[in-house]
Amino acid sequence: MGLHDRELNKSPHVSDEVRKTTCYMCACRCGINVHLRKGEDGQPKVRYIEGNRDHPVNKGVLCAKGSAGIMQHYSPARLNKPMKRVGERGKGEFQEIDWEEALSTAAEWLGDIRKTDPKKLAFFTGRDQSQSMTGWWAQQFGTPNFAAHGGFCSVNMAAGGIYTFGGAFWEFGSPDWSKSEMFMVFGVAEDHDSNPIKLGLAEMKRRGKKIVGVNPVRTGYNAIADEWVGITPGTDGLFILSLIHELLKMGKVDLDYLLRYTNAPYLVIDNPGGKDHGLFARDKDGDILVVDRKTGKPVKSTAKKVKLALQGECKYARGKKARPVFQMLAEKYMSDEYSPENVTEKTGVPVAQIKRLAQEIAEAAFEKEIVVNQPWVDMKGEKHKTMIGRPVSFHAMRGISAHSNGFQTCRALHLLQIMLGSIDCPGGFRFKPPYPRPVAAQPKPHGGSVANTPLAGPPLGMPRGPEDLLLQKDGLTPQRIDRAYSWDAPLSAHGMMHMVISNAHAQDPYPIDVLFMYMANMSWNSSMNSKGVMNMLEDKDKDGNYVIPKIIYADAYNSEMVAYADLVFPDTTYLERHDCISLLDRPICEPDVMADSIRWPVVDPSTQGENRDVRGFQSVLIDLGARLGLPGMTNEDGTAKFKDYADYMANHERKPGVGPLAGWRGKKGDKHGRGEPNPNQVQAYIDNGGFFEVHLPENARYFKHANKHWQDWAVEMGLQDGPVENIFQLYSEPLAKFQLCAEGQLKPVPPETHKQRIRDHMDPLPTWYPTFEGDAVSETPYNALTQRPAAMYHSWGSQNTWLRQIHGSNPMFVPSKICDDKGLKDGDWALVSSHHGSIKVQVKRMEAVNVNTMWTWNAIGKRSGAWNLDPDSPEAKKGFLLNHLIHELLPPKGDGMRWSNSDPITGQAAWFDLKVNIEKAPNQNGPTEPQFPKQKKAKSSPTNIEYGKEWTK
Ligand code: SF4
Repeated sequence: MGLHDRELNKSPHVSDEVRKTTCYMCACRCGINVHLRKGEDGQPKVRYIEGNRDHPVNKGVLCAKGSAGIMQHYSPARLNKPMKRVGERGKGEFQEIDWEEALSTAAEWLGDIRKTDPKKLAFFTGRDQSQSMTGWWAQQFGTPNFAAHGGFCSVNMAAGGIYTFGGAFWEFGSPDWSKSEMFMVFGVAEDHDSNPIKLGLAEMKRRGKKIVGVNPVRTGYNAIADEWVGITPGTDGLFILSLIHELLKMGKVDLDYLLRYTNAPYLVIDNPGGKDHGLFARDKDGDILVVDRKTGKPVKSTAKKVKLALQGECKYARGKKARPVFQMLAEKYMSDEYSPENVTEKTGVPVAQIKRLAQEIAEAAFEKEIVVNQPWVDMKGEKHKTMIGRPVSFHAMRGISAHSNGFQTCRALHLLQIMLGSIDCPGGFRFKPPYPRPVAAQPKPHGGSVANTPLAGPPLGMPRGPEDLLLQKDGLTPQRIDRAYSWDAPLSAHGMMHMVISNAHAQDPYPIDVLFMYMANMSWNSSMNSKGVMNMLEDKDKDGNYVIPKIIYADAYNSEMVAYADLVFPDTTYLERHDCISLLDRPICEPDVMADSIRWPVVDPSTQGENRDVRGFQSVLIDLGARLGLPGMTNEDGTAKFKDYADYMANHERKPGVGPLAGWRGKKGDKHGRGEPNPNQVQAYIDNGGFFEVHLPENARYFKHANKHWQDWAVEMGLQDGPVENIFQLYSEPLAKFQLCAEGQLKPVPPETHKQRIRDHMDPLPTWYPTFEGDAVSETPYNALTQRPAAMYHSWGSQNTWLRQIHGSNPMFVPSKICDDKGLKDGDWALVSSHHGSIKVQVKRMEAVNVNTMWTWNAIGKRSGAWNLDPDSPEAKKGFLLNHLIHELLPPKGDGMRWSNSDPITGQAAWFDLKVNIEKAPNQNGPTEPQFPKQKKAKSSPTNIEYGKEWTK
């Protein structure tokens, strides 16, 4: 029975039939009510989308993108049927085929690899929300070459958080909007964590509390902030460390908090040139040592009823010297290097502003202390009558992390939060379930690909130290095609997707056979050096074979990447699919609420256009997994274990009693968190509006890193299997170990070429160094970066007929001083150049921007003809990509190497390090440059003409 035949829920207010699911117009996962009405053809039509008032994420709020989802669903760019390439790569010439041919072709290609060398499959996905499933699939296949988009998005933010305090912003944490006295937002594009942040900012405004925006560009959240810090890109770390300098000088740090919850008192061995220099001092049992303030003697850090020292020097184990972490950090950050006077020129932030902000932060944290009368017990068994809050909160994202110094900058921000005592306390930053989850509770990365064998664990994880690198037997060559977890980027916790195509093309460290990608527009806005990437995808060897032999690509729309695929799987729109926003992945929890949600086909794709024959990508993966006989996807008799993704969502168990969905588990659907699979689970979610939520007990809501009630509850709910110790790591011992490897004191030893780089950048205490591209070029003096607009989410929105009316093209916003210096006025055409290339764009003068920084909206520009837009559409002729100026490699340094344009610790793509120059173009006529040969229109699902005929123009 098709969905269109079912009795749909009647809305109490309108005659529409309403189905509740989860938005996918950006990554925030708001709850939506989709209104349906039968069209003239008798099939259900999507007529209206509104916010779901009961939903924990958006509480009924819907943004412009969310309401324009109707146009995404009816996009003329929708792919319709599986296709195989019949022309040359890049030409967009395809023949439609049926699913059986598509799946058997893919199974044959992939089966050959799995039988011989599984790592010859590189499987990378974009902004999909099923990474626990896709990663598990890669693990069962046996390839380490898996990642999603995190490496080119914000892995510095995620890894910086997890390595420092076992948490991260956004999905895993949030400001305490209802209690915060002051909020600082760093480098956040205005569509990021969109509705939740807007709701939070509205609450702050309603309560009259101060919002400070730190961003080179004053738009979006920064435009409504009470104070704007127009910082120079790539210097946020220096600014933050200067705030810490001021707080230390004022004595405004929470010493009790540092003693209780952090490694501030841990002793660090001071033995330069020794094998243990920089490691924590340990006793013969391996326990970390601290100093008893009363006796001055070292004792175990777990010793009870001991007052610990934070300062001084101590001798232990036959006269070895060691100092507490706090002593080291106080010496480092109180030095003049970080004084406001010394950072003002580089950061562009006035001395007085730094000093005043430090005072305001201290005042909010310490003078406006909050006391919540809620008794609780910590993990050491100590009883507390109240919960003390330091009500200053922070949020940050890509603006501070997409730099070659981003990991250390993110660590610096977390150091600031911790020194204020404002992590998971009333008014501060709050963990969201299933976090906190420190490195020790995260998986390690797994490699070691063997024919016909799954990996021993997930491909992605958090290395504890050099021993967890994924290197080949020589201790030097990377195991992964993207060189993640190698000496290039030891802690690349999300992989390095931006390096996959160039490494596969260079066959370095080895050739691959199949590049399998999903929802990742890698030949356009998701790649640096987009033109170079197109050439790599098209390139052939001397025998006339493609250098990257086979490309399978899955997408719902005719994006720029489709033209380069050999085999295309058409995905559904988000209203036609099952999805699982899982606690195993990136769920929709709030600090007081454990929650997850689903998408389900509120309309059946077969009713949404003639010959529409699309399948949800995750169901396709389940099918392929069964055809390949992958463990976990196949029964003992060789039959498929799951019918489709919905079946997997209900019946897959990652460990006994724990599966993708937490609600309504158990045979009767009466268990939450843990419980046997419930075959009716997906229907239970549908009946509840598409989501599940359960509230945390009152005594488990704060101090989760040390809260016994939280630990007990998290175990009961299946979030963890036992108590997890989470000591905040002001000083990172894993980084110290890498430095010892670079000194040749620990094994493995990095190649000579990498030693200095590791010594310089893997400082165990958060630090700042100049960004790499800025350091390498002098003839391009200005910074250039992108912001995502509030109305669009990367390339998804700029094909949407309603949203295109808001942003149909993008100018380069140029500070007035540069305009005056260069004789540029609004509408002029200008050439913007970097060390890698030049683009021609139109200029728009702007005042509210850092004086040395120009910027534009991200991913508005389209390749002519792509997304089935008119080849002369404004996106193609007036829109442009900054990506053409960014190279995946840094300029040559004269050392014979071209280093990746990435953070040296995590491999995060350093998009925002770009340096440019600008001149008035000799030819003052458009279009923007570069232009590329027109991409062919893909045969697509017919549009629903009720919504307008001219929408592709
Ligand atoms: S913020 Fe807007 S686009 Fe993003 S999920 Fe929510 S409603 Fe959808």
